[in-house]
Amino acid sequence: MPTKLPPVDVVIVGSGWTGGIVAKELASTGLKILMLERGKFQDTNPDFIAPQSHDALKYSRRLDLAQDLSKETITFRNDRGQTALPMRQYGFFIPGSGVGGSGAHWSGLTWRWGEWEHRMLSGTVEKYGRSLIPEDMTIQDWPISYKDIEPYYDRFEKVCGVSGKAGNLRGKIQAGGNPFEARRQNEFPLPPMTPTQSMTMFEGATKKLGYHPFPIPASNCSTDYVNPDGVALGACHYCGHCTNYGCEANAKASPHFTMIPLARANTGFELRTNAMVLKVNLDSTGKKATGVTYADARGREFEQPADLVIVSAFVMGNVQLMLHSGIGKPYDPQTGEGVVGRNYAYQSLGGARVEVPRDVFMNPFMGAGALGMWIDDFASNNFDFAKAGYIGGAGISAGQNSGDPLTYRPTTPGSPRWGAGWKKGMVEAYQHTMSVGFQGAVMSYRQNYMDLDPTYRDHWGRPLLRLTFDWQSNEQKVMAATFAHCQRIAGEISGKAPATATPGRAMAGRRFNSVPYQTSHNTGGAVFGDDPRTSAVNKYMQSWDVPNVFVLGASALPQNAARNPTGPVGALAFWAADAIREKYLKRPGRLV
Ligand SMILES: Cc1cc2nc3c(=O)[nH]c(=O)nc-3n(C[C@H](O)[C@H](O)[C@H](O)COP(=O)(O)OP(=O)(O)OC[C@H]3O[C@@H](n4cnc5c(N)ncnc54)[C@H](O)[C@@H]3O)c2cc1C
Ligand code: SF4
Repeated sequence: MPTKLPPVDVVIVGSGWTGGIVAKELASTGLKILMLERGKFQDTNPDFIAPQSHDALKYSRRLDLAQDLSKETITFRNDRGQTALPMRQYGFFIPGSGVGGSGAHWSGLTWRWGEWEHRMLSGTVEKYGRSLIPEDMTIQDWPISYKDIEPYYDRFEKVCGVSGKAGNLRGKIQAGGNPFEARRQNEFPLPPMTPTQSMTMFEGATKKLGYHPFPIPASNCSTDYVNPDGVALGACHYCGHCTNYGCEANAKASPHFTMIPLARANTGFELRTNAMVLKVNLDSTGKKATGVTYADARGREFEQPADLVIVSAFVMGNVQLMLHSGIGKPYDPQTGEGVVGRNYAYQSLGGARVEVPRDVFMNPFMGAGALGMWIDDFASNNFDFAKAGYIGGAGISAGQNSGDPLTYRPTTPGSPRWGAGWKKGMVEAYQHTMSVGFQGAVMSYRQNYMDLDPTYRDHWGRPLLRLTFDWQSNEQKVMAATFAHCQRIAGEISGKAPATATPGRAMAGRRFNSVPYQTSHNTGGAVFGDDPRTSAVNKYMQSWDVPNVFVLGASALPQNAARNPTGPVGALAFWAADAIREKYLKRPGRLV
C-alpha cells in the first residue's frame, strides 16, 4: 500500500527541457509544485567538471547519463506479425535520465521547423493534390501555425543562446543564412560558431553545385552570453566531448542550469530525484487526475495527491504513463481508432564518407555537438515533391562533433576490421576523413505505433511500452535520393567519386534496424490537434479526456521533420506554460 503524502498544487513528471520550462514558468506563481525525476541529481559542478567529464568510456560508450535499461526499456518489432523483443542494450535512441534529462547531454542543434513542417497535410494537398499521400500515411497539420509559435521559438533561442545566422529576417533574405528559413522577427542571439576545415570544404562544394549552405543553429555558445533570465553561459571551447557528455563550461544550454535553479529559487517548488512515477491516478469518473504514484530508490511507493499533473517524461515515458493510467483511448491499428500511441515517427540517417588529401588535416578531436554546415535544398517542401516522387526530404550536412577516439574511428578503405591492420587504417584515416551526412523526415503511418507489450514487464511489474515501426516506401525513396545527393557533394569535395559510402545506418531498401544508434528524435504517440478523434491532447497539450493533465514533448508532434525536434519541443513547452499560467490556473477546466 503506497504511503499517502500531503497534497501539492502541481506535480511535474520529469526534469528535461519540457518539465524544466514549465517548472520555471509556473514556480513564480507561488503554487506548491513538486517535480519528480526518476534519475539522479546532477549539476555542472561537480558532475560535469573536467577532466572526469571527458571520460569517453563512461559517457560515450557506457552512456552514464542514460536511463537504466535493466529496470525499464521498450520492446521493438517491425510489424504486427512479429513478436517484439526488449531493447536490453542501448539501441537506435538513447533515453536520457537525471536532472536536465537528455538536455544535459544532447548535441544542441536547435531548429525552428519550416512553415510547411507545421502544416504538412494541407501544405502538400494544396500544392500537389491528395495523390502524393499514400492511403496508410496519417500525417496531419499542427493545430497552431508557425506564426502562433514564432515568438516562442524566439524565447527558446534566447534562453539557450543559440549561435547562428538568420536567413529570413522579417521577410528579407539574409546572406549567409538559410534562404528557405521561415520568416523570423529577430536575429539569433549569438553569431555562428567558428567553422572547421570540413565545414569550409562542404560550404565550397555545395555553393559550387548551386546549393545554399549555412551554419547549423547551435545551442553551443559561440561567445560568453547572459540570457534574458540572467543565467550566464560560457563560450564553447570546442572540446570535442559534447554529444552524450555534460558541458563543463555551461556553453551547451541545458535545463539543469537554465531552468531548474530558477524554479528552485521559489519556496513553493521542490525537486525530488530518484522518484519514478508509475502512474497518474484518476478519480472514479476517470475524467480527473488526483495525483500520481511513484517509487523511490528503495522501492517504497508513495501516493502524491495533486490538482494538476504535467507529464513531461519524453515521448516513450509520456505514452507509457498515459496507457498505464487510462488517459485517452489507446490506438488500435486495425480500426485506426484511438489516439494514444498513434502516429509514432522517427528519422532516417545516412551519408557518404570523403577521404581528403594527406596534407589536409581535419582535427576531429576539436568539435562541438551542433557544429556544422547544412543545406536545406532537399528538405521540407523546398523542392518539387511531384518530380521527386516522395514528400519530406532531408537536410544534408557536414558536422564536427564528438571526435573522441572511442566514438570516432574511421579507417582507410580495405582495412581489416581488427588487429594491427585495423589500427594502422584508423591512424591513417583519423585526420583525413570527413562525412557528408543526411537527416531525413519520416511521415506517420497507420502501422507505426506504440502500445503496451503483452509479455514483458518492467522492474515495477508494469507492461513495457511496445514499439512497432518500419520504413515505408516514401522514406526509402527519401533515403535513396538523398544518399545520391550526398555522394555528389562528396565527389565535389574530393574531386572523385567517394571511395566508401554508407547508405545510412537506416539501410535504405531494407527493414528498419533498431540495433545501431541513429538519433534520439522519436515523435508522436500523444499528438496535439483540433480533433479528439485524431489527437490525444489539444493545442495547449491538455488531455482531451482528463483536463487536469497536460502532456508535453515531441509526443505531440504528428510526424517528423528533416531536422532535430528540440526547437519546437522547447517552444511548445513555453506555449503550454503560458496557457497553463494565464488560462488554466485562472479557470481550471478544458481550454478548448
Ligand atoms: C545523445 C542525444 C543527442 C541529442 N541531440 C539533439 C540535438 O542536437 N538537437 C535536438 O533538437 N534534439 C537532440 N536530442 C533530443 C533532445 O535531447 C530531446 O528532444 C529533448 O531533450 C527532450 O526533452 P523532454 O523534456 O521531452 O525529455 P527528456 O529530456 O528526455 O526529459 C525527460 C525526463 O523525464 C524523466 N522521466 C521519464 N520517465 C519518468 C517517470 N516515469 N518518472 C519520473 N521521471 C521520469 C527522465 O529521467 C528525464 O529526465 C538529443 C538526444 C540525445 C539523447
Ligand atoms: S564542445 Fe563546447 S558546448 Fe560541447 S561540451 Fe565542449 S565546451 Fe561544451
